[in-house]
Amino acid sequence: MPKRKNPERARFAESDRVDALAAVMPDVFRVFECAQVTHRGTSFPIFGVVIGSEDRTRPTFGLFGGVHGVERVGTHVVLTFLESVAARLRWDKDLRRTLRKTRIVSMPMVNPVGVYARTRSNGRGVDLMRNAPVEAERSPPWLVGGHRISRHLPWYRGSVELEAESRALVDFVRTEMFPSRAALGLDIHSGFGMRDRLWYPYAKTRRPISRMDDVLALARLLDRTHPHHVYLVEAQSESYTTHGDLWDYLFDSAEAEREPSQLFLPFTLEIGSWRWIKKDPTRIFSRSGPFNPMTPHRYDRTMRRHLLLLDFFLRAARNHRAWRPGNVGVDQASRSADPSSCIETLDSVDHRSAPCGAAEAQWAPPTTLARPESEI
Ligand SMILES: [Zn+2]
Repeated sequence: MPKRKNPERARFAESDRVDALAAVMPDVFRVFECAQVTHRGTSFPIFGVVIGSEDRTRPTFGLFGGVHGVERVGTHVVLTFLESVAARLRWDKDLRRTLRKTRIVSMPMVNPVGVYARTRSNGRGVDLMRNAPVEAERSPPWLVGGHRISRHLPWYRGSVELEAESRALVDFVRTEMFPSRAALGLDIHSGFGMRDRLWYPYAKTRRPISRMDDVLALARLLDRTHPHHVYLVEAQSESYTTHGDLWDYLFDSAEAEREPSQLFLPFTLEIGSWRWIKKDPTRIFSRSGPFNPMTPHRYDRTMRRHLLLLDFFLRAARNHRAWRPGNVGVDQASRSADPSSCIETLDSVDHRSAPCGAAEAQWAPPTTLARPESEI
């Protein structure tokens, strides 16, 4: 019987960047294959990256990209951030200290066939973000909300089984994020709207999630920390509802399976790429144009635009006790108006006291939840 040849591994720009990360600091960046998919005789590994503490109960920032392959900008923002972390770890003692007690876990390219072939779906025509066993509570928009009519139409949900890429994502999040006492996730997409949106669950319903207190506290923290930020924070269902959202599925699973004191809060950064089309309407005629910054100056701007947000998520996960409602400690010193005394107490807080600092009562409602689109 002839020996079956192993399929050759696909090599392309994004996979080369993951390989480079693995090679540069193998002791710090733990890069591994979560799964492998084969497409037209070529093998495509789905990579996972783990940086920092090996203790999975530690605060965790999960960063994801390339679920929709044509939205390559998401993968590029993730890789740019990871490369920046690699560079900083060579000289930044504060970051090293942070990562001794915190974890960054990442899948830069959940759908490598899609990234390679520049398609939204995976190699089998399935839209991974419609593939989870989750039904919308009311009829979502026709086709866009997910369907099982044909794999030749966009937004196809696939069968009731999870696709290999969806399974890899779910398993990775369960293994690397569910054990954490506080895990924040960010999955980067593009192709909707004029503004950059930060979506929290649900996509399946307009009902609020059970962790709205945490969502609002995090949105306020973002407003106070970066008052001029560009993000509109809203439930995904404010824009549209869908069947099969993987983050809905993972959020509900985490809520059902874990301790109430543990936090798992997944966000989607939806980069508002319609503004690029407004500046250059001819982009609509190219396959990648509506989803990715095509000119060098716009690409550079997009890569640096979100680094602050990613760093904020890492620090918010690390310091979750400082901002989570009902999970924040303060002693006598931190009740004073002196911010430095507050900072000193953050690492040794009792979990059940009031939020840190006397200024808490003066916080304004989060402007991100109300700012009209026309302002940006
Ligand atoms: Zn997308």
